[in-house]
Amino acid sequence: MKFFCPKCHWEMPADVVQCSHCGYDLNRWQRLDYDQKLIQALSHNEVNTRMRAARLLGLRRIRNAIPELQKQFLFSQDPYFQAEVMEALFDIDKEAAKIFFRQTLTGKESVILERTWEQQLRKN
Ligand SMILES: [Zn+2]
Repeated sequence: MKFFCPKCHWEMPADVVQCSHCGYDLNRWQRLDYDQKLIQALSHNEVNTRMRAARLLGLRRIRNAIPELQKQFLFSQDPYFQAEVMEALFDIDKEAAKIFFRQTLTGKESVILERTWEQQLRKN
């Protein structure tokens, strides 16, 4: 099993208390609650970890995660991860997500979003 620094995601041995790359104190990580760990995992260097974190934050409807999810959406170049983040943002707060994506997406993408949104509303 590989271990990574929760802050800079440098690979490291399992038995250290401090990251040799960025100096992060791993005892601080131990004290974070589960949702805070999920929020940090959104910037993990393994794509499956990022995807799972976004999915779980959405399912758990963690409002504190909204700013980091929005940041990751803007930052990412990976459309699959962006789609997962988008779904999580809609799961957490539909109205806030709609406002964010209206401001963020332009042209063709905004048309796709509006159509999807209208179809979702009709289903529910
Ligand atoms: Zn580090």
